[in-house]
Amino acid sequence: MKIASVVVDVPTKQTDKSYDYLIPEKWQDVIQPGMRVIVPFGPRNIQGFVTGIKVESEIKQLREIIEPMDIEPVLNRELLELGDWLTDKTLCFKIFAYQAMLPAALKAKYEKKVRLAAGVEPEQLPVQLRGYFETGQMLDWTMALEHNIVPLLQREAAAGLLEVIYLVKDKVRKKQVKFVKPVVSPEEIKKELEGLPANAEKQKQILRFFLDHNQPIELKQLTAELKVSSAVVKALASKQLVAEFDMEIYRDPFEHRSFERTIPLPLTNAQTTAIKPILTAIEKNEHEVFLLYGVTGSGKTEIYLQSIQEVIDKGKEAIVLVPEISLTPQMVNRFKGRFGDLVAVLHSGLSAGEKYDEWRKIQRKEVKVAVGARSAIFAPFENIGIIIIDEEHETSYKQEDMPRYHARDVAIRRAQTNNCPVVLGSATPSLESFARAQKNVYHLLTLPTRMNNQPLPAVEIIDMREELRAGNRSMFSRKLFELLQDRIAKKQQTVLFLNKRGHSSFVMCRDCGYVVNCPNCDISLTYHRAGVQMKCHYCGYETIVPKVCPECSSEYIRYFGTGTQKVEDELGKILPEARVIRMDVDTTGRKGAHERLLKEFQEGKADILLGTQMIAKGLDFPNITLVGVLSADTMLHLPDFRSSEKTFQLLTQVSGRAGRHQLPGEVIIQTYTPEHYSIELAGHQDFDQFYQREMLVRRMHHYPPFYYLSLITVSHEQLLTVVSATEKITNYVRSQLSNEAVILGPAVSPIARINNRYRYQCLIKYKREPNLTRTLKTILDQYQKEAKNGLLVSVDVNPFILM
Ligand code: ADP
Ligand code: ZN
Ligand code: ZN
Repeated sequence: MKIASVVVDVPTKQTDKSYDYLIPEKWQDVIQPGMRVIVPFGPRNIQGFVTGIKVESEIKQLREIIEPMDIEPVLNRELLELGDWLTDKTLCFKIFAYQAMLPAALKAKYEKKVRLAAGVEPEQLPVQLRGYFETGQMLDWTMALEHNIVPLLQREAAAGLLEVIYLVKDKVRKKQVKFVKPVVSPEEIKKELEGLPANAEKQKQILRFFLDHNQPIELKQLTAELKVSSAVVKALASKQLVAEFDMEIYRDPFEHRSFERTIPLPLTNAQTTAIKPILTAIEKNEHEVFLLYGVTGSGKTEIYLQSIQEVIDKGKEAIVLVPEISLTPQMVNRFKGRFGDLVAVLHSGLSAGEKYDEWRKIQRKEVKVAVGARSAIFAPFENIGIIIIDEEHETSYKQEDMPRYHARDVAIRRAQTNNCPVVLGSATPSLESFARAQKNVYHLLTLPTRMNNQPLPAVEIIDMREELRAGNRSMFSRKLFELLQDRIAKKQQTVLFLNKRGHSSFVMCRDCGYVVNCPNCDISLTYHRAGVQMKCHYCGYETIVPKVCPECSSEYIRYFGTGTQKVEDELGKILPEARVIRMDVDTTGRKGAHERLLKEFQEGKADILLGTQMIAKGLDFPNITLVGVLSADTMLHLPDFRSSEKTFQLLTQVSGRAGRHQLPGEVIIQTYTPEHYSIELAGHQDFDQFYQREMLVRRMHHYPPFYYLSLITVSHEQLLTVVSATEKITNYVRSQLSNEAVILGPAVSPIARINNRYRYQCLIKYKREPNLTRTLKTILDQYQKEAKNGLLVSVDVNPFILM
């Protein structure tokens, strides 16, 4: 008798444990830990993960597993164990931990099919299976189960003859492409060609094309190549010479790009010194965390590449994390250029199918390097030799939903298990990491200068209050305007950066000061000119901009603050000759748009690139000699203890975009608070000073890295219910922790209401509290069970957003 422990896909407190199920005889050799299965649960059949297999159970009346969902485990042993760890560290439901590790295509809304692997002929399969795949068909998983052939399929899949794919069930999201193919023989085409009248030249062209290429071709490609309209194809189709049909395709996102191969560069002295301890750790299979601290352009990426080469040479694998917004083609090219097809890239721009394909390459060990954003930390490698986190200070490495993990913590955990080094790279390390390096918990490696020995660009801070006093009401200071004109005259390029975080484009009445807020959440709606609409970023509520103020009926109600669109409009007025490319959520929403706009800028099709933080990273074009930051302060005033740190990092990063090559660069930072240390020190790009200053502030206010934080957020539709529950929770926390813990609350959350739910919080600051995890678990146990009355309690350990 074999029994499987199964974690079921029912994310509630009561069901957050494993259940025992009997494995039916016929599945005994099939089902393994790490596979997904369908099990009966109450009256329903649901999905679950097999976490282990045993021969005994304390439960007498076991129900049977209905069927497996996988041919092979989707989670390896290390990842299953990592799931336990994640559950414990982030206090999430185990099912969420497992799901976070898998690509979206492996979640339920997808249809599973089996097909022949590339290049395999049906004849290579055992006789019983051939029929299913003869005409290039795919086999439905449900049919495989009905026909009892899963063990057979499993064997052939293990031998590489078959593969499992996932098709999106939802019809609208399928990517259908129109194809054309000839439906008659070449002889008939020839005959037809002769019969066609002389003026049917376009039709002839198509027929001649199919004489040469007797296979299907994408309609778009055909019409483009032959410069014919689709009506001509239709005419041939109506004569039943060709046929149009739809085909679903998954594209390789990098298919049409060729990668110039690069070879390792001879390292500079500074690089040699920095890489040596990393190579030693790789060689000795030792776990160690390195903090590679070096300004942009100091040669960090080359160190990553050569470390990875060492790992590959040892037959091991590498994971490289980069923030989503720097996963640009330029970045990917660096890795593909060095390691070619050994690289899989995982990022949110891929369709579910494409992501699954990349994930499969990792699982099948067809690649050695996984490059991706946060979730790539779960790449299913089994022999990891190094984990690299570039721009380690980026807040996007922290996931805000369950499981609320930080990729850095997961990286260190996996590296410990795999006995390998972690390299954290940054020009502006997070205070936490730099403090750990100072205390020798991390090994600090420094690259002090830029590769080209170019001085850092000259930064000038402009006090916008002075501008106003001098009568300049424009959003451009006189200096910035002058330099813009200068660059246009010299045919050099400028990047204008607008920090749009915060409440920068809300709708306000100029007469009475009324601001249009979301009716469900206590925040202002964000203005989008595209549809003359306003949107709530928290609940998605949308409405049109009112013509008159609902409060005082004034007609002077309009958007306020500087969105990128407004800057673009103003540029059009003051510098009509400037060619501007705008990059923000509105212009880059479509797939590939981001990349295309950058390419246009690189090709010199514009003088000015204007955008939000998404342009702060990765831009490395030789012709950029001016960077302007229009409003440095917007982020400083957010209710967030990291706002100074984020401001400093962002300004430093943006400044680094200028003068990276031969031409020297200049940076203009416009601000209303030039005296603030994070702005002043960003002007000097002085991280060390900034670190000292900010550490004082953090120590004084009991913030990380001196204290850890945990945040409990409570929400409910009734204000009184929230307040009293938060009070009870806060009192309980106080009773369980030592006097050294600082417990703040109950307090109203910075965003007091989201989606009609009032929000209160309790913030805990602490150094060492052995009781804390147990206390938080007790609270969650208590309240997640009571979720029926609508009270929601969530816990974020080491939160990044305190709102
Ligand atoms: P970072 O990752 O710190 O921004 P990079 O590794 O991208 O720095 O290096 C900056 C530039 O210097 C790149 O164009 C890179 O190709 C070049 N570079 C890096 N290392 C060397 C080297 N050892 N010799 C010559 N050029 C180098
Ligand atoms: Zn008004
Ligand atoms: Zn809302």
